[in-house]
Amino acid sequence: MLPIPQRAVNGLLRDCNLNHPITTVEQLPHIITCPFCWEQLDILLDPSVEQQSYTEDCQVCCHPIALNVTVSMSGDMHVEVERE
Ligand SMILES: [Zn+2]
Repeated sequence: MLPIPQRAVNGLLRDCNLNHPITTVEQLPHIITCPFCWEQLDILLDPSVEQQSYTEDCQVCCHPIALNVTVSMSGDMHVEVERE
């Protein structure tokens, strides 16, 4: 039996991984402070989007928090919170 070239093996492994799509963006945990109740909240941020703003309800007081997320070139995330 001929030895299988390593490259071919890697290709096969890559094909197998298609069952677990890598399009799922890994979200990064971040801690913000609620501008209503001042509790610290764990949120998940999508680091693949440079600039995003959305509203998320506070897990503690349920007020809508406006989030402005900026990702710098180096991948640092800056989060601003405002009262919606
Ligand atoms: Zn709150």
